[in-house]
Amino acid sequence: MKKVLLDPQSYGNSLSNWLKANGGDGLEKALSNPQNILPTIEAAGLRGLGGSGFPTFKKWQFVCEQKPNPDKYLICNGNEDEPGTFKDAFLLTNTPHQVIEGALITALANQINKIIFYINPDQKHSIENMRCAIEQWQKNEFYAQIEQSLETSIWMQVLESSGHYIGGEETAAIEWVEGKFPFPRGKPPFPAVSGVHDCPTLINNIETLANVSHIIRKGAKWYQSLGRGASAGNKLYCLSGDVLNPGVYELPMGTPLSELIYTHGGGMLLSKKLKAVFTGGVSSTILTPKDLDVPLDFDSVHKRGSSLGTGAMIVVSEGTGIVKRVTEYVNFYAHSSCGQCPPCKTGTFYVSQLLNKIDTGRASRVDLDSLINLSKILPGSGRCHLIDGAMKIVDSSLYHFNEEYRSSLIS
Ligand code: SF4
Repeated sequence: MKKVLLDPQSYGNSLSNWLKANGGDGLEKALSNPQNILPTIEAAGLRGLGGSGFPTFKKWQFVCEQKPNPDKYLICNGNEDEPGTFKDAFLLTNTPHQVIEGALITALANQINKIIFYINPDQKHSIENMRCAIEQWQKNEFYAQIEQSLETSIWMQVLESSGHYIGGEETAAIEWVEGKFPFPRGKPPFPAVSGVHDCPTLINNIETLANVSHIIRKGAKWYQSLGRGASAGNKLYCLSGDVLNPGVYELPMGTPLSELIYTHGGGMLLSKKLKAVFTGGVSSTILTPKDLDVPLDFDSVHKRGSSLGTGAMIVVSEGTGIVKRVTEYVNFYAHSSCGQCPPCKTGTFYVSQLLNKIDTGRASRVDLDSLINLSKILPGSGRCHLIDGAMKIVDSSLYHFNEEYRSSLIS
C-alpha cells in the first residue's frame, strides 16, 4: 500500500497529531485570505476525482455566485459503491482530518455553512472515524475562526447514505439528505442553484476534498508539478483483479497503465497474460493490452474511447471468460436501477437475462442480435448515466471479444 499524502500512522485519528504534521497550515492560509482560495484551485487545475473530471473551480464558481437560501450545503460524497472502487473509504478511515480540513476550506471559499459527510453505510470504520474526528474539530479554535469569517454558525455531520449504487449520483444524494428515496432528479435546476431544501448545494467527492488543504498550503505550482505530462496532481488508483499486489496506489496523474500493473501492482497473477482492464468503476469501454501505454489521466484515457472514472482498474487475465464478467456487472446494474425510467429498468433486466443465457450456453443467434440492438438503442434513454455505463461495457465487450459471444451460441 502506498503512502497517501501523509502517512496515516503519523497522526491516526488525533487532530493534535494532524496539526503537528503541518495539518491546519492550509486552513490558516485560507482564513488569512479566503478570496484567494478559488483562484488557487483554478490555477492548480484540480478536477473532480469521483469520476467526472470536471474542473473543480468551475463547480465552485457556480455555488459562489449563489446567495444562501437561507443556507448553503456541501455534500462530501463518500457513497462509493462502484465495483472495484475503494479509495474514498481508505481516505475516510485513515486520514479523516485531511478530508475535514479540505471540506472546511471549501466551505470558506463558497460561503457554505452546512457540511454533510455522506458515507456508504457499509464503511463502518469510516463512519466511526469521521464522527470522532468531527468532534475534535468542533472543539478546536479553527472552528470559531471559520464561523467568524463566514459571519454565521456552521455545522458538520456524518450522514450514512442509502447504500444504493445510484445514491452516489448528485441529485440522488440530495434526495436522500432530504429524507427521501435516492431517486436521481431531472436537471435543471442544477444543485448549485437549488439543491438540499432548495438551497445552493455543492457536491464534491472525498478524494477531491482531500487534495484541497495541500494545494492551499503548498500552492498551485506545486500541485501542477506532481502530475505527468499535461496532468496536474496525484491520483489514487484502485488496482484489483488478477494482479500480485492489489491495493490503493497514490501515483502521479498520468502514470501509464503498464507501470501501475507491472511495477506497482507486481505484475499479473501466475505470470498470465493480460486480457482486459475494466476501468472507472466498470462503467466504461474496456481497455485491452494495446492500451498498456495509455497515461492514466482523464484526457488520455478519453482519447482511447474509455474514461478514467473513479480510477478503478480491474485487471483480467487470459483464461477468464469476458461474457461471464460482463454478465456479473450488468446483473449489478440491473439490481441497482432505481426504476424511474422504464427503458433503464426493463432494459438492464432484459440485457442481464440475455447475457445470462449466452453465458450458460442457452442462447441463439437471435438472442445475440437482440443484445447487439439493445446495446445501441438503450444509451441515453435514462435520467442518469447508469444505463449508459451498463451498455458501454456490453458494447465494448461485443467489439473486442465478439468471438467469445459467438462461440457460446447453440446455433
Ligand atoms: Fe433510475 Fe436508471 Fe433512470 Fe438512472 S437511468 S434514474 S438508475 S431508472
